[in-house]
Amino acid sequence: MAFKKNLQKRILCEAGTGTQKRLPCVMCGTSFPLPEAAHIVDSKEWSEKKDDDEVVNGFPLCPNCHKVFDDVLRPYLYRALEAFGTTNLPKCWKKSNKVSGVTESHLPINQNA
Ligand SMILES: [Zn+2]
Repeated sequence: MAFKKNLQKRILCEAGTGTQKRLPCVMCGTSFPLPEAAHIVDSKEWSEKKDDDEVVNGFPLCPNCHKVFDDVLRPYLYRALEAFGTTNLPKCWKKSNKVSGVTESHLPINQNA
């Protein structure tokens, strides 16, 4: 589910500038295609602990980096942080997102280093 419009604007626009200038993608720096407000923790899981979405749970990503974050980075980050001993990680990070069809079976995520 997408962020509400007011949160989306706060995530995508430069804070405190008084302008509507959109921020570039925080991963690759592109401004075209326009970055989207990406959830860090999926909104459904976020709502299990918090009343409502918050700006801190989002950041601007272009559509390509959004897919890479959801499908590739989150499972790798989950694996590394879990191995490091971090607890209470978002469950949505454990498996790749369904956006591009990339699943754990496509990733060398279960291989030991
Ligand atoms: Zn990008």
